[in-house]
Amino acid sequence: MVVIGAGIVGCAIGVALQRAGLEVCVVDQVGPAAGSSSAGEGNLLVSDKLPGVDLELAQHSLALWRALAEEIGEEIEYEQKGGLVVAHDEAALQELVALAAAQRAEGARATVLSGPELAAVEPCLSREVAGGVFYDDDAQIQPMLTVAALVRALRRSGGRVVGGTEVRGATHAADGRVVGLRTSAGPLGVGRAVVNAAGAWAGEVATRLGGYVPVEPRRGHVLVTEPAVPLVAHKVYESDYVASIHDERHGFSVSAVVESTASGTILLGSSREFVGFARDPSAAVRAAIARRALGLFPALAGLRLMRTYVGFRPATPDRLPVIGEDVRAAGLFHATGHEGAGIGLAPASAAAVVSLLGGGDPGFGLNAFSPARFVPPR
Ligand SMILES: Cc1cc2nc3c(=O)[nH]c(=O)nc-3n(C[C@H](O)[C@H](O)[C@H](O)COP(=O)(O)OP(=O)(O)OC[C@H]3O[C@@H](n4cnc5c(N)ncnc54)[C@H](O)[C@@H]3O)c2cc1C
Repeated sequence: MVVIGAGIVGCAIGVALQRAGLEVCVVDQVGPAAGSSSAGEGNLLVSDKLPGVDLELAQHSLALWRALAEEIGEEIEYEQKGGLVVAHDEAALQELVALAAAQRAEGARATVLSGPELAAVEPCLSREVAGGVFYDDDAQIQPMLTVAALVRALRRSGGRVVGGTEVRGATHAADGRVVGLRTSAGPLGVGRAVVNAAGAWAGEVATRLGGYVPVEPRRGHVLVTEPAVPLVAHKVYESDYVASIHDERHGFSVSAVVESTASGTILLGSSREFVGFARDPSAAVRAAIARRALGLFPALAGLRLMRTYVGFRPATPDRLPVIGEDVRAAGLFHATGHEGAGIGLAPASAAAVVSLLGGGDPGFGLNAFSPARFVPPR
């Protein structure tokens, strides 16, 4: 099997396929974690998932992360710290409470907190917020360490990870099945099948291979503070974050997301905009993120920023991942389109790919993620 893309999704798939008895080669145009997997925050969230298939996939993935954390949790800085979602006014709080009730009905652990309870959970949080919901299951990992750990696991079990290999096209059998790849390092047979896990580049890769997935890069900024005494205990974010995932394309949207890391820095997010692969951080977006974060934690004003980085979320039109075989190119499977949740959803996506290749029931439905739901524009 060949997997295209050595990000967290491709590497998780590589490990799962190898464990299922297949022989795997993961190829990347650069190398492990060269794409979005080194430009995100590392949250494993149920709190931002809508009830239904979205939440179900996240819950399965979290269970898989927990199992993995028992083996290598320290290596990847796994921490089940919990997530706190806060609302600034009564109307937003009512919406948040309603969402939490629907998530709770599907098994999420979510507790509504009022002013004094919020202060007990998150002492440096602004007293101006109207209320919040605490999600016990939200967790965090360090994505780059995790990709490195997956690469080691894959190599230990006999799989290969090859950098510097850009996939440029495909060779097809008479019936249209993808049987080989044209790469910058020469031709490559794909064996049983090929998995497109090229993240924000997956749309382009699909086209090169004769298939179709409408994945676009959705840019996000993260601001990193200098290491500080712990002033943020959990992942804390504003309730309009969920709406910002699902909103339409106009300008940029910002919703504050604040969390500390094991190394003491504090990560401030989060923005969303469709500007292609533009890499230079925007001063306006940076300022908006800083302003919103200060609204949640006024004490951040005493810290300096060390750096800002941007990354590209692989976004589909309906904001759900695409996992399944391409209807136009047999033998080509896609596992992409995870938007701002690819770190969290990587293990369940890997389980889904194994299942699609004959490895049994993954324990959750896959229909909603089928590539067949998208039709290319004429
Ligand atoms: C600011 C920001 C914050 C985020 N925070 C979180 C978070 O807290 N939690 C979470 O779950 N998710 C988060 N995300 C989303 C997450 O980062 C992505 O969903 C995830 O990294 C996607 O992983 P991937 O393996 O699919 O893609 P990538 O990591 O981008 O890997 C794709 C790989 O494909 C390779 N590639 C591309 N084209 C080719 C080609 N033609 N040939 C060969 N190789 C190719 C690239 O080099 C790249 O290494 C965040 C994203 C951003 C931008």
